Amino acid sequence: MRENSIFGDHLGGFSVCIHRGARQIGGTCIELACEDQRILLDLGLPLDAGDEDPTSLLPENDGLKVADPSLLALIVSHGHADHWGLASQVSHLPIITGAATRRMLRAAAPFVPRPIPDGIDAPGVPDLVDHKTIQVGPFSITPYLVDHSAYDAYAMLIEANGRRLFYSGDLRAHGRKAALFERLVEKPPQPIHAMLMEGSSLGRLQPDQTFETESQIEDRLVERFQQPGFIGVNASAQNVDRVVSIYRACKRTGRTLLLDLYALEVLAATGNQNIPREGWPSLNVYVPEYQRLRIVKNQRFDIVDRHRVNRIYREALQDKIGQAVMLFRPAMVRDIDLVPGAWAGARVIWSHWDGYLRTEDMKHQPTVSFFTPTGSCKVPRLSAH
Ligand SMILES: [Zn+2]
Repeated sequence: MRENSIFGDHLGGFSVCIHRGARQIGGTCIELACEDQRILLDLGLPLDAGDEDPTSLLPENDGLKVADPSLLALIVSHGHADHWGLASQVSHLPIITGAATRRMLRAAAPFVPRPIPDGIDAPGVPDLVDHKTIQVGPFSITPYLVDHSAYDAYAMLIEANGRRLFYSGDLRAHGRKAALFERLVEKPPQPIHAMLMEGSSLGRLQPDQTFETESQIEDRLVERFQQPGFIGVNASAQNVDRVVSIYRACKRTGRTLLLDLYALEVLAATGNQNIPREGWPSLNVYVPEYQRLRIVKNQRFDIVDRHRVNRIYREALQDKIGQAVMLFRPAMVRDIDLVPGAWAGARVIWSHWDGYLRTEDMKHQPTVSFFTPTGSCKVPRLSAH
């Protein structure tokens, strides 16, 4: 599993082992060791893990399958599962991450099959806060808030025994927090002895191309929303920038955004009052049937209670469906199927990395025409990651 190491003993400092993520997108796991004490930077679920037993995907290092006092903590750079998804297998470890990320992962827990473990709430565990250094054993960790499709994402400067490593986490320069990227480039931490940087977008664009900004994406959504008919936007609720763009495009086109309980819980967990929530104009709460059944099964009626303002039921959707935009997942197809005439003129906009679109799950959605870069509709991809 060991793919790389730097800072050999002859340099002093500390050792670094990239267990996974150097030759693939996602599944990141980096181990740092200094004076017989260790931390993990991220513990991600590989994107191609499928139904594989997560235990078999854990890197072979001490302290993961069985607690080991030398492994001090797991530091999670941001809330994407390819950076924390195997944390569910190491419930004995303290998990350090941003406060908003912690709240969002906890809010998502009732809705996902492999929730974040209780270590996320361990007492006395510090949060990652922009430019605020924390000490974990021999490691000084200084987080740098970065622009990414995950809210509350951090790069990190890690210093121990006289050596300084910069870990970029995932970052970009074209979202609503693009200024953070410019700040980092203009004032990088110095000195740096080694840098680990994500490269999932390297080679995706020609030299003369750039990714669209979130404002440009919002404008393109406005164009699409002007044509009548139901629209599902398949985007992550945790991509807060994108949800804001979808909501703003709805307002600009007189459409109503339908958000489900998972989305509302995750958005509320940001703690940001400027992010769409129940009670806002041009927004209805819709509880898809699969979520309703899960709520009943888990007796989590408190979640329904929190988001009852402007709730709309399926029977009432028929009158609105042609002017509705739903934050959409394949499990919601069954709900739309039950609204008479809803699919006439309907469109679904794909707003994830296009690699996900090639999975078996997505190939077998019979009633949905996906708008993809390679699809027959020739609508360009809205964005990725
Ligand atoms: Zn990410």
